[in-house]
Amino acid sequence: MLYDNKNGKVKDSYDTPLFGTLAADSPIPKNKIGEQPLEPRLAYQLIKDELMNEGNARLNLATFCQTFMEEEAVKLMSETLEKNAIDKTEYPQTAEIEQRCIQIISNLWNAPGEQDTIGTSTVGSSEACMLAGMAMKFRWRKRAEQLGLDLTKKPNLVISSGYQVCWEKFCVYWDIELRQVPMDADCMSMCPDSLLTYIDEYTIGVVGILGITYTGKFDDLEAIDQVLSQYNETTEHKVYIHVDAASGGLFVPFVKPELRWDFRLKNVISINCSGHKYGLVYPGIGWALWKHREYLPQELIFEVDYLGGKMPTIAINFSRSASQIIGQYYNFIRLGREGYRRIQQKTQDVAHYLADRLEKTGRFRIYNDGSDLPVVCYALKENVKLEWTLYDLSDRLLMRGWQIPTYPLPARLENIIIQRIVCRADLNYDMAGLLMNDLLEGIQELDNAAVLVHGKKTEPKVYGFTH
Ligand SMILES: *Cc1c(COP(=O)(O)O)cnc(C)c1O
Repeated sequence: MLYDNKNGKVKDSYDTPLFGTLAADSPIPKNKIGEQPLEPRLAYQLIKDELMNEGNARLNLATFCQTFMEEEAVKLMSETLEKNAIDKTEYPQTAEIEQRCIQIISNLWNAPGEQDTIGTSTVGSSEACMLAGMAMKFRWRKRAEQLGLDLTKKPNLVISSGYQVCWEKFCVYWDIELRQVPMDADCMSMCPDSLLTYIDEYTIGVVGILGITYTGKFDDLEAIDQVLSQYNETTEHKVYIHVDAASGGLFVPFVKPELRWDFRLKNVISINCSGHKYGLVYPGIGWALWKHREYLPQELIFEVDYLGGKMPTIAINFSRSASQIIGQYYNFIRLGREGYRRIQQKTQDVAHYLADRLEKTGRFRIYNDGSDLPVVCYALKENVKLEWTLYDLSDRLLMRGWQIPTYPLPARLENIIIQRIVCRADLNYDMAGLLMNDLLEGIQELDNAAVLVHGKKTEPKVYGFTH
């Protein structure tokens, strides 16, 4: 506690320096609310300081989530934080903007009849996948009832073993068997040839992934669609596709518009994406769309009053800020198709550049050079004898502030340990060059390291920076 020489306790005045105030002289409340208020500038400073040693978002190449938006977008979003997206009566124009985003996205995904597409914004792809999964389950149940299946039996969902955890959650929440098609070592995605062996009349749907989180590779949706077209011709128990395009949904339409993965495919009936991945918005926005209204079961559409009329609400969450929706719309009108194309193409070029530099070191086998998602994914070459592992390299990079994870691939490929660099819009060539310098230096340090951390007899343990 601060005391002066004469009277004991001192008081603050308007010119007391921030770090000389009485409040700055004691710890901030942590687990119990403080009795007295704090001055706003001090509260701001103390919390900001507390967050200071967290990673630098721009150097975090582990995440797909956006780490840069233009000043005008940030301004617009902070000015609209108080708008509640669900309150469509109070904020009808925000509701209109959400609908415009849905139309824009349905058009990017080549929906056949724009007017007939139905969709919603969500907090992210996890919520969107949950909705799409429920729609599949409800549709399956209706079919199953009509066809006289045993409804006490557990239905299943078919997906590649490279699925994102939201699908595991969906299956646990809804008591569904998660049937994993093992990822193929050559293409690092679902192998369509074996797909049918996983499908039966209790299959609620197949999920194709446009951008497998582990590797950045795309499932071959055209091939999956063909397999299911043939299957559906032979049976009443039709199986349709949902595409989890969390990362690829707002990337592919700009750099590879000819790739057929979307509503152009006969059996694709719903798609989700994360606006906060390659949609280029800060975290908190996702989208779920159904090709035709009829694919979204009526039970999942709830009506709210909207300016005397009715407005359907589909999302799980009720109140949340509309600012992310507004941020998404800002990007759409600000960037346009050409703006998105340039940004995404540049991002892919940087990924190719990194893959090329990594290849040239002679140390790595490249699994994705950025040709699908702009993600560079690599393992140490097996025939190169080294005393260190990729986990050590991740740690070296972390010392320079780069977060680049190392982890094993999923089931049946778990012996392959890979490292992954997710390129995003704000990773430019200069930064990529700095990263390569740090990486090469890290390799050199490890090659020359006097102390080796791995025991000769035991397997190297998983440690260091993983994801
Ligand atoms: C990121 C991701 C998700 C989850 O998305 P959130 O927007 O983070 O909820 C789901 N599926 C895939 C394939 C992803 O890459």
